[in-house]
Amino acid sequence: MKPIIKQEHFGETPDGTFVELYKLSNGNGVEVAISTYGGAVVSLLVPDRHGKLADVALGYDSCDGYLSDAAYLGPILGRHANRIAEGRFTLNGVTYSLARNNGEHHLHGGLKGFDKVVWKARDAATPNNQALELTYLSKDLEEGYPGNMLVRVIYALNDANELRIEYFATSDKDTVVNLSNHTYFNLGGHDFGDILKHELMINADRFTPTDSTSIPTGELQSVEGTPFDFKLPAAIGLRVNQEHEQLKYGHGYDQNFVLNRADSSSSSLAARVLDPESGRVLEVWTTEPGLQLYCGNFLDGTIRGKKGVPYHRNQGFCVETQHFPDSPNQPNFPPTVLKAGAQFRSTTIFRFLTQ
Ligand code: BGC
Repeated sequence: MKPIIKQEHFGETPDGTFVELYKLSNGNGVEVAISTYGGAVVSLLVPDRHGKLADVALGYDSCDGYLSDAAYLGPILGRHANRIAEGRFTLNGVTYSLARNNGEHHLHGGLKGFDKVVWKARDAATPNNQALELTYLSKDLEEGYPGNMLVRVIYALNDANELRIEYFATSDKDTVVNLSNHTYFNLGGHDFGDILKHELMINADRFTPTDSTSIPTGELQSVEGTPFDFKLPAAIGLRVNQEHEQLKYGHGYDQNFVLNRADSSSSSLAARVLDPESGRVLEVWTTEPGLQLYCGNFLDGTIRGKKGVPYHRNQGFCVETQHFPDSPNQPNFPPTVLKAGAQFRSTTIFRFLTQ
């Protein structure tokens, strides 16, 4: 029998567009709720080692929370996740100007990125998955980017407790694209406190150091001997207060890692995170070359999340699978150019286990 996903009314935008909440669930009690506003993961119920469920995603109770959100709690990021220096890039000899919404720079697609639009939803279940397909047509020069771009994102949940996100995009003009998801995870629960005791492994020998405004210098630096060496699992909080220029610039961990991987056609293990207290484990698998680790450094308790819980510094961690920051201006980084008529495709799997 074809599994049917649940749908609820979540709210509406100021122009009266309805926003829906879709819930995918599996036979183990795992349930993910996704809003058509920003395609955001609103909640994610996952069992601990005793089978007790907790909501491991930071978020808001109401649609209004998302309308005014500036911390990117859970949404799809695009067209170009992460920073583009001075909101500018040149493609085929033409220089494009983008919104500067992060000091001098462009961040996560601009003032009205893919996190701030209403996506069209369709039940895309298969025999083994509950799935939701979201589509959005980003018009030529929206937020300054060239080309009409059709974007499709599929969230699918299976009985192996894997939440798979598949991203597709096509454009009628050459353009740039970098899609990601900005869920803040706390494997103890969104209301659990900070994530500094979570043990993190990142499958990366190198990272991309930045200047003081978080724009990569272009160098690929070895993690060896730095607080960015997570090749073996280490508590996130263990070295976060060490004297290190990059930790100072990021106000803690806010860094892109160069993932070790066999090839780009299949998913590789990018990261593994364990909450020793609950035993919940998150594995991140991706086809992407990079992973931005961001540990909620700018959360300061002013955001009231679900059930009125204030979200403090380090209350969640983001593992944003993506191409490297500022790729359109970095000739030595893997390119984020999408040719007219070509298909962009990317897959990330969040796999939940216990230990
Ligand atoms: C970036 C941070 C930024 C945050 C906004 C992250 O993806 O790496 O620098 O402050 O998004 O929520």
